[in-house]
Amino acid sequence: MLLSEFAANAELKYELSEIMKRGTLPHAIIIEGAEGTGKRTLADVIAGYCVCTSESEKPCGVCNGCMKAQKHIHPDIIYADGNEKALSVDSVRNIRSGAYIKPNEAPMKVYILSNCEKMLAPAQNAFLKVLEEPPKNVQFIMTVKSASSMLQTVRSRSRIFSVFPAGIEETVRIAQKRFPNKDISEIEHIAEICDGNIGMTLQMIESGGEEARKLAEEIFNAITQSVEYPLLSLTGRLTESRNFAASVLDCMGEIAADCVKASVGVKVSSETALQTAERYSKKRIAEIAENVRYARKVLNTNVNLNLFCTWLSSVLRT
Ligand SMILES: [Zn+2]
Repeated sequence: MLLSEFAANAELKYELSEIMKRGTLPHAIIIEGAEGTGKRTLADVIAGYCVCTSESEKPCGVCNGCMKAQKHIHPDIIYADGNEKALSVDSVRNIRSGAYIKPNEAPMKVYILSNCEKMLAPAQNAFLKVLEEPPKNVQFIMTVKSASSMLQTVRSRSRIFSVFPAGIEETVRIAQKRFPNKDISEIEHIAEICDGNIGMTLQMIESGGEEARKLAEEIFNAITQSVEYPLLSLTGRLTESRNFAASVLDCMGEIAADCVKASVGVKVSSETALQTAERYSKKRIAEIAENVRYARKVLNTNVNLNLFCTWLSSVLRT
């Protein structure tokens, strides 16, 4: 990917492109931003710049170095993927000693340390040493949700770039490009649920849509069962993520609306809605629909997901 193709974040892109033109990239960069905003993508762009062998504008996106960087197979780009082990004191010491070894084929060596919120203080301190006396031709890129979780000493030796969510319009545009056969109104709906966060939107389209619908139907079927456990277990799956829970509740809202219609004799296509409508009184169905609506509102507040799921299970049964 070229820097210009990175979504939104115009100021950041301008600043970075100027730095790249001048060839004055700071040796340590922290990219901060919420999950799904493209921190890793931006890290890849910068890494591409470092290993690009083009004589003109870098990253060119087509040279051997750029191609390998895009496929994550460049021998001079080393990834430490955000878990405590990959970012432990021992791992950081390995990174430190490796950094003094010359690159294999690129003009520079690049280390991408992601999810640095998992990097504990001792490991950060070990890392600090290499930032204090940086080896030549080495680029360090750290990604983190918030730079405030890095030690002040690490922050002060790094340049911090903040990435922001792209916004709904831009997210829809990108998602449409990626999923050209997907219904536009559905993409818009998901982009809105995800508050214009590209990563979350793409992920939800990829995996969430059908899964959410299926779970919503299973939950509805479990409401009518006499034992409580299946419903409790199903609503428990909403703890996966707030966005997934929102998506499931939206589907439940649609099913509930169909139940209400079916209970007054309107033809609906949802089998689940038909069955629920057959089993319960109109009053009970209206209650379920109201509870689903209310639950969706509650989810918008910063409610604890575990408590929410237990509460939802009980409120759907009463
Ligand atoms: Zn290139």
